Amino acid sequence: MTRSPLTLAADPALADAMREVRAMLAACMQCGTCSASCPNAQSMDMTPRRMWRLVLLGRADTVFSSGAFWMCSNCYACTLRCPRGLPLTSAMNALKRIAGASGHPALARHGAFYRAFLDNVRRRGRVRETEMMMRYFGAAGPREALRFTPLGLRMLRRGKVRLELGAGRWDTALAPLFESAARLEGKEARP
Ligand code: SF4
Ligand code: SF4
Repeated sequence: MTRSPLTLAADPALADAMREVRAMLAACMQCGTCSASCPNAQSMDMTPRRMWRLVLLGRADTVFSSGAFWMCSNCYACTLRCPRGLPLTSAMNALKRIAGASGHPALARHGAFYRAFLDNVRRRGRVRETEMMMRYFGAAGPREALRFTPLGLRMLRRGKVRLELGAGRWDTALAPLFESAARLEGKEARP
């Protein structure tokens, strides 16, 4: 992945937010059970155990240069198995919130992907890959579209994705769930 130099460690708002995440992880004994339990660890560029260590060491730049926490799918396996009973899924979500709110350009790509994914699920009740990726490319820019073109063409050839841009009915069954989450976060749900 592309790594950009970050200056987040110098940001006081980030320092406060990271202090809260550190408090969640203070009792980590680096046993690695979280990494071994995580179904998405192989897609992360650093393991959860390593990321917690870096958070505790105050290495925000390294943590946010990684996209590992964006790969968390909130399955709660790590939280259930951590021998110290630490709120690891909440810590992952806290890192996503901090990254999303930072507005730092180096973090924009992951945030745009996450929003495109969630928006598609909210509108369709499931992910429609082509529609989601078009929205993502609109936010992330043409270079990102070019980067994904070979993979997209391979998947199209093998019938793994369908071109169904804007077609089909919208499924609003999940809308109440998203509205409820937005209420809990003190935000307005987007139309
Ligand atoms: S399972 Fe818990 S104690 Fe073990 S490394 Fe992960 S966070 Fe730390
Ligand atoms: S909650 Fe996230 S980090 Fe924890 S095991 Fe599941 S995917 Fe991995």
